[in-house]
Amino acid sequence: MLDPRHAILFEPVPIGPKILPNRFYQVPHASGFGSSQPRTQAAFRGIKAEGGWGGVCVEYSPVSADADEEPHVAAYIRDDRDVAALRYTAEAIHAHGALAGLELYHGGNSSKNVSSRHPRMAPSQSAAAISWGSTAREMTTDDIRRVQSDFVAGARRARDAGFDIVYVYGAHGYLLTQFLSTWTNRRTDGYGGGLAGRARFALEALEQVREAIGDDCAVATRICVDGRRGVKGVRIEDMLEFVRMADPLVDLFDVTVGSWPEDSGTSRYYPEGHQLTWTRRVREATRKPIVGVGRYTNPDQMAALIRSGDFDLIGAARPAIADPFLPRKIAEGRLGDIRECTGANVCILKEEDFRHIGCIQNPTAGEEFRRGWHPERFDQTSDPDRTVLIVGAGPAGMEAAMVLGKRGFAAVHLVEAEDEIGGRLRWTRRLPTLGDWGRIVDWRRTQLDQLPSVEIITGRTLSDRDVLDYGASIVIVATGSRWSDDGSQPGRLRAIDNASGSLTPERVMTGERPRGQRVAVYDCDGYFVAPGIAELLAAEGYDVHLVTSHPVVSPMSDGTLEGPMLRQHLHDSGVVMHPGITVLARSADGITGETEYGDPWTLEVEDLVLVTHQVPVDELHRSLTQDADALRTAGVDAVHLIGDAQSPRWISEAVFDGHRLARELDLPDPSFPAPVLRDQPV
Ligand code: ADP
Repeated sequence: MLDPRHAILFEPVPIGPKILPNRFYQVPHASGFGSSQPRTQAAFRGIKAEGGWGGVCVEYSPVSADADEEPHVAAYIRDDRDVAALRYTAEAIHAHGALAGLELYHGGNSSKNVSSRHPRMAPSQSAAAISWGSTAREMTTDDIRRVQSDFVAGARRARDAGFDIVYVYGAHGYLLTQFLSTWTNRRTDGYGGGLAGRARFALEALEQVREAIGDDCAVATRICVDGRRGVKGVRIEDMLEFVRMADPLVDLFDVTVGSWPEDSGTSRYYPEGHQLTWTRRVREATRKPIVGVGRYTNPDQMAALIRSGDFDLIGAARPAIADPFLPRKIAEGRLGDIRECTGANVCILKEEDFRHIGCIQNPTAGEEFRRGWHPERFDQTSDPDRTVLIVGAGPAGMEAAMVLGKRGFAAVHLVEAEDEIGGRLRWTRRLPTLGDWGRIVDWRRTQLDQLPSVEIITGRTLSDRDVLDYGASIVIVATGSRWSDDGSQPGRLRAIDNASGSLTPERVMTGERPRGQRVAVYDCDGYFVAPGIAELLAAEGYDVHLVTSHPVVSPMSDGTLEGPMLRQHLHDSGVVMHPGITVLARSADGITGETEYGDPWTLEVEDLVLVTHQVPVDELHRSLTQDADALRTAGVDAVHLIGDAQSPRWISEAVFDGHRLARELDLPDPSFPAPVLRDQPV
């Protein structure tokens, strides 16, 4: 039942000629599906409408040939085929009574133009934001008119595709912001100079779009209200004035701050609602509806924000990916069931690097069409009486147990050697700044506790004999991995001479500490573990050197938008960084190796922590599967291997693995993923 304190979140909100059914609004964000995977896009967004988001937007939609984003995937709306493709999405959103939004976009000097080979354009000649060795040319007034008319043409197509809200996108440092910024706009004609000139491009585009479709659709704009560190030349005072100027032309202000890495800052470095200091000030300049994000998952916080009058809508990208049903759960008073975003930005990493969105918390994200997965509905098993034993309660084992419980299996035992469930997250969540990742365990624990058919047994290490004697007909081995202590990365880097005795992340996190004061953390993994250990030890007063085989420290953190902040953080914590080093030997004096150019390299340290690669803990699986007779005699019909025990990967993949197996356990060979539907462009 809805808590009356949260009722305010379910009030309808008029925006222009449309009415949002409630205050939950999924702001535009990329998915990797664009208009080229129309059914995947439609299913991904439609689920959010079904889950109660009153407004659901698609990603950026480039309007001009010189705003070409390939190989990134955008929701192009250039011709009738794109209109037909995106109509699927508008219809999927409408099917649940929500409004559909499309974000018309031009990147200016940050558009890629790799495929179009069009020169990049910007208000003034400027270094292209995307690739080196290229300079964006200054737009002529003809260019300005053409791009504005492209916005109008895009808006007409968006309306024809069925969208209710059409954006003129001006945030995150793209073309509209480049015009507004004193840093990128040095024009001396009527489109530069004082704020009135710098605002003219955006105001004219808004006016023309409004003229074309304003009776049919709400016109929104997304603005960067203060540049902070990322978007130079954009200041709150100017932007409030811009909002006053744009007010008559705009039905909805979508407000952001800084560049994308700041606006979508991870939980490591940005608390929830960190943007508010700047974004809440927009109310000073307009009475029109305002939406902003803050990675909110707590309805008390959301209701307080609406009551404050600062925002009219609760914007979300990441919390809506982690839980498409967040609004419905609030409406039903099921607050404990909300699958809270961890702020890890795996969604961004996956969408940016792999062109297919995913989520560390929600393994169904992006799988709605191709695998037919619904985040809240699970096919009931046709054979519920099989007993299932899951060995290991890390992310993979917990997820498998939960899904099997939800699928109606009558007896699922989740057995864990340690006293607590969580696997590697038991210690990962205790690394500095990674506390919110604990939500992966906490949410699953809450769900498991609600499933009477799932029994959790901790403090019990199972041997192969124990498993055979357990009485289960299906065994799922989810025993995880351990960090190697030989300093190698198989297939890439050889073992370090005399590495034995070096520490590993698990040993540090279970209480062991380096001998001596000076310690090196050697990282070949390239993500969060080594920086986390380094920061932890530095905070305890060790003199820490982070040595990495990668050319930059933690390259994967660049994919999650954290790289520069992570390195700054390490620097500020006193950690000395040594990128591009391959460590080859350890001696009494320290470590030796070579630089990326083959020059000898040494570092005096008293101890070494190795974060080089993870080794699957798969002995149990090997011994069980090599004796088919013993399995038959014990009544075990199948043994499956999931998660890190199969292949050490990111946490998101271990969760996915457990989820996938549990969904497909009734198939003839669930060990291998079932074929997926392939989407086709229209
Ligand atoms: P994943 O990410 O694949 O879920 P983790 O390493 O996070 O893997 O978790 C694996 C879990 O399995 C750990 O909590 C570990 O204690 C547990 N485990 C490993 N071997 C056994 C065993 N033989 N019996 C019970 N639990 C085990």
